[in-house]
Amino acid sequence: MDRFALKGKAALVTGGNGGIGLAMARALAQAGASVAIAGRDAKKNASAAAELKAVSLCFDLKDAAACRAMVEEAAARLGRLDILVNNAGTNIRKAPQDYSLDEWRAVLDTNLTGAFVACQAAYPHLKRAGGGKIVNIGSMMSLFGASFAAPYGASKGGVVQLTRSLSAAWAKDNIQVNAVLPGWIDTALTRRAREEVAGLHERVLARTPAGRWGRPEDLGGIAVFLASAASDFVTGTAIPVDGGYSSLG
Ligand code: NDP
Repeated sequence: MDRFALKGKAALVTGGNGGIGLAMARALAQAGASVAIAGRDAKKNASAAAELKAVSLCFDLKDAAACRAMVEEAAARLGRLDILVNNAGTNIRKAPQDYSLDEWRAVLDTNLTGAFVACQAAYPHLKRAGGGKIVNIGSMMSLFGASFAAPYGASKGGVVQLTRSLSAAWAKDNIQVNAVLPGWIDTALTRRAREEVAGLHERVLARTPAGRWGRPEDLGGIAVFLASAASDFVTGTAIPVDGGYSSLG
């Protein structure tokens, strides 16, 4: 299946040192891409980079200058940039009335502004390569509200609208921009959520037609598809990978 092959392509996966990001980075590497992963935790970075023979980048994406520097370093060390996966994300769970503005900003800056700045920085590199692929990670909260995650929901709704706007603007440059909306996946992020939100584990199981929580590797296939020539006529979409969670009313 040549159209899924990524040999000769270079990919940057933010948050690629663990969870969903690591699973996507692993799938891209297995499809032949050279990969850079970015995160804040040097130890997690080192372990992921060793496994994938990837370039390791230590940056805090809440800082716009760091986001730009991350993209430039990825392109320099990989020698080119064809694929950007904006996966790094965070959540702070509480009632909407209890967030400080700093907490709101921390979530929006990481999940939405960080992705936007990385896209801006990647654009000239993708254009120079004759086209490219951007994969933004949304959430079920791009579609549905959650009483305990107002800034996260706002950021993930924004990720889908950002995806649509960028896809329209950059289609002429042969850059496809799509979003992936994971359902409930078993990672460090959702292990914390299950500790903080009573009954969440059971509610997710009851509502997910597939009858299980997702695993990070469930996201590998969509990452390769959206990063490869197999998806060259797919742009501006937001694709759920959710065991059927969003198909229920
Ligand atoms: P994890 O907590 O396992 O991974 C989050 C990743 O983002 C880590 O690699 C972390 O690196 C990185 N990260 C977080 N904040 C920053 C920052 N400020 N700067 C740089 N890197 C940062 O979570 P998941 O794998 O579950 O989440 C990955 C993405 O998928 C997120 O965007 C999340 O919102 C989304 N998602 C997850 C779902 C789930 O059920 N798990 C469902 C829907 C969406 P480090 O630790 O080094 O900072």
